Amino acid sequence: MNKKRILVHICCAPDALFVMNRLLDGFFVTGYFENPNIFPPEEHALRLTETQKVAETLSFDLLIGPNDREVWNHRAAKYAEEPEKGRRCDICYAHRLQNTALEAVDRNFDLFTTVMTLSPLKKASSIHRIGRMFARRYGIEFLEADFKKKDGFLQSVQMSHEHGLYRQNYCGCSFSLKDRERRRQEKGG
Ligand code: SF4
Repeated sequence: MNKKRILVHICCAPDALFVMNRLLDGFFVTGYFENPNIFPPEEHALRLTETQKVAETLSFDLLIGPNDREVWNHRAAKYAEEPEKGRRCDICYAHRLQNTALEAVDRNFDLFTTVMTLSPLKKASSIHRIGRMFARRYGIEFLEADFKKKDGFLQSVQMSHEHGLYRQNYCGCSFSLKDRERRRQEKGG
């Protein structure tokens, strides 16, 4: 059977470990790290370094996209007050999925997808709708998968502990970091 070439958007190492491991059987996989949403810069660097470790462990190529914070901030700023899984997150998914689709077309991949649906904090239905939209627009297939299903998320937690990977405790942007701090204070108070 001829395996298809897939470009997989990756946002962090724990998600990459589980999803890439699962996709390796059926596809020739390449990772694509582009996450200008991640704040602060040290956190961005840490998530990238950890993802590079996973790429080495599973032996897949990892492409690194531009870290265009200004564009992302401009797009997300007016939705600063939105809750997680709201409109700001749709903009954030779209920013990263569009660039992944364009990169996949440029490099002649057969299809593209993202690891993001592994997270219970992300809305798979929105990610799928946006992925399908860019697939149609750029004439490339989108692999629509909800990786958290069938205990995917729980298994990924276990795998990342076994590999000693850093697991972040907030989604990524400065707004989600503030939310985390607020939740902490509420617990403490
Ligand atoms: S909460 Fe997560 S998905 Fe939503 S905008 Fe922030 S980084 Fe992006």
